[in-house]
Amino acid sequence: MYLVCSRRCGSRMFRALFAEVDLDAGGGFLDYQVVQPGYVCLGCGSPALDVGEVPAAIDADRAADEPAMRLEVLCPVCESLVEVLPEGECPNCGAPLTVA
Ligand SMILES: [Zn+2]
Ligand SMILES: [Zn+2]
Repeated sequence: MYLVCSRRCGSRMFRALFAEVDLDAGGGFLDYQVVQPGYVCLGCGSPALDVGEVPAAIDADRAADEPAMRLEVLCPVCESLVEVLPEGECPNCGAPLTVA
């Protein structure tokens, strides 16, 4: 997780809006769990963004958009190095190639 203020006010303190806080018998803080992502900047009160999550989301989008990765394999039939899609066939001799 890496929180930043949406107004970039420079504050490094944030509050989770939807968190459950575990307390001891005297009301002392023990632990917390974020129930739902949602944070505000304590400096200016603007919504804060968890930019630590963004690259992973972008990667997932990009992976979904990209065509299936081509792999270089050595065809066991004609013994040529060919680029195939996973579970494709050899473009030279048509032999089915299973790519592990
Ligand atoms: Zn702020
Ligand atoms: Zn082949």
